[in-house]
Amino acid sequence: MTKRKNAEASQPGAQATRSHAGAGRTSKPAAKAGPPAEQNPPSPPDLAPAAPHAFPLHFSPLRLRRQLKAWYTQHARALPWRGARDPYAIWLSEIMLQQTRVTTVMDRYVEFLHRFPTIHDLAVAEEEAVLALWSGLGYYRRARMLHRGAQFVEREFGGKLPTTAARLRMLPGVGDYTAAAIASIAFGQSVAVLDGNVERVLLRLLGQAEQKSTSVRAQLLQAAQQLMPPSSRDPARENQPGDHNQAMMELGALLCLPRAPLCPQCPVWEMCKTRGEHPTAPRAAMQSRTVAHLLALRKRGVVTEVLLERRPMDAGLLPGMAELPPLPLHAVHGREPILRLRHAITNTNYYVQVFSEGVKLGGHSPASLLARVLATPGERSWVATSHLGQQPLTGVTRKTLQRLNLMSVPKVAIQPPA
Ligand code: SF4
Repeated sequence: MTKRKNAEASQPGAQATRSHAGAGRTSKPAAKAGPPAEQNPPSPPDLAPAAPHAFPLHFSPLRLRRQLKAWYTQHARALPWRGARDPYAIWLSEIMLQQTRVTTVMDRYVEFLHRFPTIHDLAVAEEEAVLALWSGLGYYRRARMLHRGAQFVEREFGGKLPTTAARLRMLPGVGDYTAAAIASIAFGQSVAVLDGNVERVLLRLLGQAEQKSTSVRAQLLQAAQQLMPPSSRDPARENQPGDHNQAMMELGALLCLPRAPLCPQCPVWEMCKTRGEHPTAPRAAMQSRTVAHLLALRKRGVVTEVLLERRPMDAGLLPGMAELPPLPLHAVHGREPILRLRHAITNTNYYVQVFSEGVKLGGHSPASLLARVLATPGERSWVATSHLGQQPLTGVTRKTLQRLNLMSVPKVAIQPPA
């Protein structure tokens, strides 16, 4: 599964993927003070910055669109958000897919929509409930921004998402990419998206090496815009801009892979100037860090409870999220963990060791670990294992509890589009 980079990522570091939804419009406007109602603009984008020296296209945009569309129609993956008509559902999928693998997003997307089916439901929810449903997706600032975005839409737009990229850009947590994706997929606006997948496809099509600069990005965005079909007048019936953007992203996710692209299967092979891997900029080296956490369990009748600790709100990483109480490494020296796992956050691999309370190992009583934890300041609580799903757990905590069979792993069936 490929990853998608996105400049809008709320927390540092990136991993991503995507693929996509359909088009349409649904949500009901409530008459409220706010910006005037918008019409689908019949033409061009409001977000593509002018690039002084655009990459010249050496092929016909119409030909590329036709061949890409034929391939996409036949090969697009069936995903929970594919074919979504509700702009809110499309917005949600776009935010979830930033920096996150498709397989990770699938179950969380379905569960999130089930719990918060409308913008209003999300706007009035407690932040903790939103974070709990985001657990496992990482980059939790996205969840906070989405929550604030729903409140903003309720307050400023009468509960209805604006229909142009320029106005969508006003929402908290919505950058150029997300605004373009929602405007094209939900509302049929002819505005190009440029995520990591599209960027890679374009660089290879145009025979360019990767360069990390805003001017090259602007050139790529301009090239992407030149490939766009015109805005759809009735995106509920036909949405060429939305389909084209999704097809470009799907091509990058399925065939034009970062390593070993599947060029012989590519629908635009004859237009491509690279036909393989392109030169890329050096990547940041991964760091390694070892951390330790305490798994403390207790019984209350038939209920098993686990001790969780809330990270400080001013923590640089994952503020306010719940985790197993951290332990200093010197406190676990000579002890054997009950579980080891690796968890990557941005450019750091965390090698996590989990120590259990109540298991005697090596002549030490781990009970002293609990006493040590309880003797230090911190916001802690015992939570029934059956309620762990309602907690705003960090990703590694969720992973740990699932591996120890203290928390279930959701299973979601992928439905084909309606
Ligand atoms: S031919 Fe290969 S490198 Fe070129 S766009 Fe297709 S998959 Fe990517």
